[in-house]
Amino acid sequence: MSTIDKDLTSFIDIAADSDFSIHNLPYGIFSDTKDSADNNRRAGVAIGEQVLDLSVLEAEGLLSLTGGPYFDQPTLNAFIDSGRDNWTKARTTIQTLLSSDNGTLRDNADLQAKVLFKQADVTMHLPVQVPGFTDFYSSKEHATNVGTMFRDPKNALLPNWTEMPVGYNGRASTVIVSGTDVIRPSGQLKPNADERPIFLPCKRLDFELETAFVVGRGNDIGQPIAVDAAADHIFGMVLLNDWSARDIQKWEYVPLGPFNAKTFASEVSPWIVTMDALTPFKIACPTQEPKPLAYLNEKDSNNSFDIHLSVELLPENSDEATVVCETNFKYMYWSMAQQLTHHTITGCKVEVGDMMGSGTISGPTPDSYGSMLEIAWNATKPVTLKGGETRSFIEDGDTVIMKGYSEKDGIRVGFGEVRGKVLPALSFDFDK
Ligand code: CA
Repeated sequence: MSTIDKDLTSFIDIAADSDFSIHNLPYGIFSDTKDSADNNRRAGVAIGEQVLDLSVLEAEGLLSLTGGPYFDQPTLNAFIDSGRDNWTKARTTIQTLLSSDNGTLRDNADLQAKVLFKQADVTMHLPVQVPGFTDFYSSKEHATNVGTMFRDPKNALLPNWTEMPVGYNGRASTVIVSGTDVIRPSGQLKPNADERPIFLPCKRLDFELETAFVVGRGNDIGQPIAVDAAADHIFGMVLLNDWSARDIQKWEYVPLGPFNAKTFASEVSPWIVTMDALTPFKIACPTQEPKPLAYLNEKDSNNSFDIHLSVELLPENSDEATVVCETNFKYMYWSMAQQLTHHTITGCKVEVGDMMGSGTISGPTPDSYGSMLEIAWNATKPVTLKGGETRSFIEDGDTVIMKGYSEKDGIRVGFGEVRGKVLPALSFDFDK
């Protein structure tokens, strides 16, 4: 479905600026706030300020999918793995049940009481079991900014950057869901070039504004995914705060790339927005020069998405967040299809539930930079927050909130938010 059916409305009250319109229907895993045990976790879709319990719809015989049931489970992996025909059938069925002109749920108060929960009354969990986490580096503006700061402004991009989506294999085990606190990491820092490193809490803790796509269909080892088939392997997207320890990274990253600087927390929004919901917001990637090698050359030039993104900073004991970045996914140089194809071109196997980060998404202007490193330009231009405090990096007690949505013709499809608070570093006593 590439166009928006504006006549499609829901009987549920949904604010005009809600991320969760009937055109969206993102999937998540939730439990009653009272009991978050695995056996109480099940799948739902967000609709307005509510969650629709898909496990009850299945049990009531209102959502029958091939090979099901799928939704009375603590992850979405089995549903996603069941294939595109089921994705389409689920979306169509749920959309019909929530629509204004279908009476099945609209006219049945008992059923509504069983299947609708206020989002404020549930706990959200990681929506998929994540077998692998990969992080790309696909924003030209971000890579140029970092190269300008740390290498050479005249040659900010390394020669490989415009030839391939540069990336690295990260840690799936530390992909965490929004709302999880992040403990400030400690590690090797090397503030003085002439002296040995010291072990200390990270002083340059940063966020990275990213999205991640969720692999919906894997491949066999040895069998690359062709670039024009890659879209069929992507189920949906989430917001990603790829927490980063800049000072740990600076000392460790040569020659094999980031390691401990990126392994402590990759925090994602709880709702997976499907590619079906995002299709109406497709637009072209920036022009790629030089033209990519043939294996990365896509037929479809409408290979990106118009997704407005923002970052807010909320210091401890403050009730007023400051917007420190507003940007857009459309600035990404390499498309998700190109990333997935490049990832598998050697025969690397990817699996259902794998998450692949975009890389920090920066736009062309300073107010659209996607990390504190860039916003405060390596601590040379600290940001003043609404309460008067200044920041070059993230302090203990700070909460970072990322939001994202697409909007067109008055129709909104959004991600909600990913929110994480930083706790002080652990104290270590190595003398004992
Ligand atoms: Ca990253």
